[in-house]
Amino acid sequence: MSLAERPRPQVDRDSVPWWEAVRRHELLVQKCGGCGTLRFPPRAICGRCRARESGWVPIEGTGRVASWIVCHQVFMRAFADEVPYAVLHVRLDDAEDLFMYGDLTEGDPAEVTAGMPVEAVFTDVDEDLTLVRWRPR
Ligand SMILES: [Zn+2]
Repeated sequence: MSLAERPRPQVDRDSVPWWEAVRRHELLVQKCGGCGTLRFPPRAICGRCRARESGWVPIEGTGRVASWIVCHQVFMRAFADEVPYAVLHVRLDDAEDLFMYGDLTEGDPAEVTAGMPVEAVFTDVDEDLTLVRWRPR
């Protein structure tokens, strides 16, 4: 099954700018207008200072694997031809406690290790959707 036929991410009010940037192959995170904390995923209110003001800033798109799972079981038929695949929780290099997630698009899922350096890659699914995935660096 092609990527375009699979279930699609649900874009919400707070994540629209992020998805638009990803479409342009740019990786952004929110920066709090009150305390300057970088945050992901996007949300309306800062979890640290509760400010509602925020902007968007570019990030490097590099990080290290903080945690991961390797799916061997077919939980969704749409992904049956992908197993086994790894889903990574990546600690970004840009700030402490800033994480992003996505699947490993290159390399062997069995060789993922804690602290493994990775970088974001953009996969254009179709004219409306681009996904952020990760590969070893
Ligand atoms: Zn804040």
